[in-house]
Amino acid sequence: MTGQLAGRNVIVTGGARGIGRGITLRLATAGANVVVCYRTEGPHLEALARQLADTPGRHRLVRADVTDAGDVERLVGDARSSHRTVHGLVHNAGVISTVPFGELTPQEWHRVVDTSLTAAYLVVNKTLPLMTAGASVVAIGSRAATVGIPLRAHYTAAKAGLVGLMRSLSKELSPQGVRVNVVVPGMIETEEAVRAGNEQRRAFVENHSHRIPLGRYGRPEEVANAVTFLLSDQSSYITGETLHVDGGI
Ligand code: NDP
Repeated sequence: MTGQLAGRNVIVTGGARGIGRGITLRLATAGANVVVCYRTEGPHLEALARQLADTPGRHRLVRADVTDAGDVERLVGDARSSHRTVHGLVHNAGVISTVPFGELTPQEWHRVVDTSLTAAYLVVNKTLPLMTAGASVVAIGSRAATVGIPLRAHYTAAKAGLVGLMRSLSKELSPQGVRVNVVVPGMIETEEAVRAGNEQRRAFVENHSHRIPLGRYGRPEEVANAVTFLLSDQSSYITGETLHVDGGI
């Protein structure tokens, strides 16, 4: 809905690619001023900037590695100097890998846990002073947190920790009027995945879709709609919640 977030200042981590890109564009269409945190340079950034130019807000593309405290400080500093206050924060950045637990190195453990979990601590911690009453934090979780996925113990642990962190913060930050929720996507087919997909992947997706009650993979904008709702005043009495966007899995 256009105007739902008119004039709201929102930071989105990992906001230039995949689900995060869908979130950025949806929020911008709803009238938000989006501070997009990205890590990897590429032509996709120019394309995103062009799309954002067609939306009403004032947007920023800021390169920052969310696992680096100094970078996160710079990201939030950019939001402070361009917008003064922050009404919304979406921690979407995340990485995944498939590794037998016995072969999981400390480096890989930290790469995955630091991006989903430690970065969530960093971005909320640094943004909090800019948040006004009515602000809303949304973290992008994973079903892995509750079911556990073999070969992805690091990812599962990170996403489970994220839920705990957000639930704790929902209680701690309520007195200052800040709401905190988690959105859990199911199987989402991002543009990149479709582009990179070969025959084998297409067959897998088709086969797997039959196990999803709604019979198909989700789209980034469907996750983005849930995030938009949780950032808006329409969810003003919802905090500490985990909202699944997964076609009924
Ligand atoms: P992608 O791999 O397409 O995108 C990951 C995003 O995270 C990119 O924007 C990337 O930025 C960013 N990122 C990774 N590491 C860093 C870092 N150190 N600093 C800053 N940004 C970083 O993933 P998806 O879009 O598929 O996933 C997005 C979120 O949704 C993740 O948290 C994932 O766990 C979760 N999720 C996804 C599901 C799916 O089916 N796709 C299912 C369940 C959960 P850049 O490109 O600039 O490097």
